[in-house]
Amino acid sequence: MKVIECLIIGSGPSGYTAAIYASRANLEPVLIQGIQPGGQLTTTNDVENYPGYPDGVTGPLMMEDFKKQAERFGTKIIFGTVTEVLFSKEKGGTHKVIIDNKEEIYTKTVIISTGASAKYLGLDSETKYMGSGVSACAVCDGFFFKNQDVVVVGGGDSAAEEATYLAKLCNKVYLLVRKNTMRASQIMQKRVFDTKNIEVLFNHETIEIMGDQTVKSIKVLDREKKKELMISATGFFLAIGHNPNTEIFKGQLNMDEVGYLITKHDSSLTNLPGVFASGDAQDSIYRQAVTAAGSGCMAALDAERYLGDLN
Ligand code: NDP
Repeated sequence: MKVIECLIIGSGPSGYTAAIYASRANLEPVLIQGIQPGGQLTTTNDVENYPGYPDGVTGPLMMEDFKKQAERFGTKIIFGTVTEVLFSKEKGGTHKVIIDNKEEIYTKTVIISTGASAKYLGLDSETKYMGSGVSACAVCDGFFFKNQDVVVVGGGDSAAEEATYLAKLCNKVYLLVRKNTMRASQIMQKRVFDTKNIEVLFNHETIEIMGDQTVKSIKVLDREKKKELMISATGFFLAIGHNPNTEIFKGQLNMDEVGYLITKHDSSLTNLPGVFASGDAQDSIYRQAVTAAGSGCMAALDAERYLGDLN
């Protein structure tokens, strides 16, 4: 049975940064990409706040750079998804990780960088029209709604970003905010309010997505006036936050009520020896590419120290 030194689960900024550090420390890491190679940033348009890119960069291009840098130092990258984990509870124990229900990997350390996934409202019509007008990624699907009217739901930075992105392509963007304020940063809000073809509807919530084969209109509730109204739109974009991708670790790793992995203060250490967590899977507060990358670096250094202590 071959036991590797370090397995990294996830291919966002956190996973690739862990891979860069682990490979430069001769841990010969193996990185499992997961269902969304490159992570959430591959669905982001312009990244303007990642240091080192003074002119900005697209999310997919940035993640390609991360990948190249990890590969340069010998990280082995596998396209696949982790379907099961059997973590050892003993210091120095071997962890077993199963990929796509068949391939088994044995490893001394595991770095979890599985990130988070988009949330949905939970409406039946949302499922019905998924891919036929409903999307959680403006950058992926916005093109299909060129010169049309669309609705974006949410009041955070994601919603502001998606709305301004779509405004460049679409005829009109309605931004449905359920409260009377937006949670988005001031600079993002300003961009929204400065964009002529975005109409922000505060105190509005979605009742139903209507259509035939594709989306035709959205039934919404004006909570203030307690009145229902129909918005004619062919696209419905969700931007209401994310859930951490930590389901497969339930019962083995400590997590909070939402599912974010709990790490020991000022470290990436989980409750199990040799298992480390970084990035959005353990960060419900900052959730930025740069903080994810930073915590990926921490996880690799923690793994290196752990392995050093075993010898
Ligand atoms: P947030 O959790 O910040 O915001 C979610 C928004 O969705 C809130 O306005 C929330 O409303 C609303 N919402 C949640 N559930 C529902 C629902 N069922 N119906 C209607 N509205 C709902 O998530 P984001 O994805 O926007 O941002 C996550 C993190 O990523 C943040 O830290 C953000 O700063 C960061 N980010 C940064 C970007 C950048 O800098 N370029 C771009 C995108 C994200 P309410 O306020 O009422 O709870």
